[in-house]
Amino acid sequence: MGLLEGKTALIFGLANKRSIAWGITQAMHREGARIGISYAGEVLERRVFPLAESIGCDFVEACDVTKDEDIEAAAAKAAEKFGKIDILVHSIAFANRDELNGPFYNTSREGFRMALDISVYSFVALARAFQPLMNEGGAMLAMTYHGSVKVAPHYNVMGVAKAALEASTRYLAYDLGPQGIRVNAISAGPIRTLAAAGVSGFKKMYRAFTEMAPLHQPVTIEDVGNAAVFLCSDMAAKTTGEVLYVDSGYNIMGVPDVDAG
Ligand code: NAP
Repeated sequence: MGLLEGKTALIFGLANKRSIAWGITQAMHREGARIGISYAGEVLERRVFPLAESIGCDFVEACDVTKDEDIEAAAAKAAEKFGKIDILVHSIAFANRDELNGPFYNTSREGFRMALDISVYSFVALARAFQPLMNEGGAMLAMTYHGSVKVAPHYNVMGVAKAALEASTRYLAYDLGPQGIRVNAISAGPIRTLAAAGVSGFKKMYRAFTEMAPLHQPVTIEDVGNAAVFLCSDMAAKTTGEVLYVDSGYNIMGVPDVDAG
C-alpha cells in the first residue's frame, strides 16, 4: 500500500517535466495520492496538460498566485471536485532576471515587492484559502533554498524571499497546528529547472555543489519528490515548522575540501 493512499494532493507550480513540482507529483502519484495540479497560466498549457494526462489527473487549473480572485476560484473548484484535501504543495518562485545579477543593493523596490509577493506571500494566501478544505492530519509544503541563511552569490532578493518563506512556514505551522495541519519546507540543492536558469552563474555553482557536498551527487526532482512524500505522509505525523535539507549534505560544510579532486 502506498504511503499516501486515500489522500488528495494539490500541487502548485508545475511548469514542465523539469519542474520540482513534477518530481513531487510523480512521487505522490506513485504512493497512491489523488492528484490535482495548478499552473501559472495559458503559456504553460501545452506542457502541463500532457504531463497531467500521463498520470490520469483530471484536475488541472490555472492560477496566477498574484491574484486573490484566482486563488479563491482555485479553492472553490477544488472544493467542488474533491470536497476535502490532505496535501497542498507550493513550488512557486519568481524574481526578475535583473535582480539575480550584480550587487544585492541594486534590488529595485518593485523587484523586491514582486519577488516576495510571488515567492512568499502566495504561500500565506494559499494556506488561508485552502485551510478550510484541509482534513485533520493534512500537510502543507513549500520549496526553499539555502540562500535563505547563507549568502549564495547572485541569489540576492530570492535569498531574502526564501528567508521570509521559511519564517512563514513556522508561523503557519503555529497557526494551523491546532487544526492538525502540519506545515514544512524542503530546502533543495541546485536543480536545473526553468526558475534556476534565471540565476546568474547557476551552471558554475551547480558544478561546485557536487564537488563540495559530502555525497558528491547532484540532487534530482525525484529526490525532492521522495522527501515530499515523507513530509506529507503520516510517517512525519509529529514534524511541523521544519526545513528539511535535500542537498547531498552540502549545508553542513563550512569550507571546501581543498585536498579533494
Ligand atoms: P520551475 O519549474 O520554473 O517552477 C517555478 C514555478 O513557479 C513555475 O511553474 C512558474 O510558472 C511558477 N510561478 C511563477 N510565477 C507564478 C505566479 N504568479 N503564479 C503561479 N505560479 C507562478 O522551477 P523549480 O526550480 O521547479 O521551482 C520550484 C520551487 O523550488 C521554487 O520555489 C524554487 O525557488 C524552489 N527551489 C528550486 C531550486 C532549484 O535549484 N531549481 C532549489 C531550491 C528550491 P512560470 O513558469 O509561468 O513563471
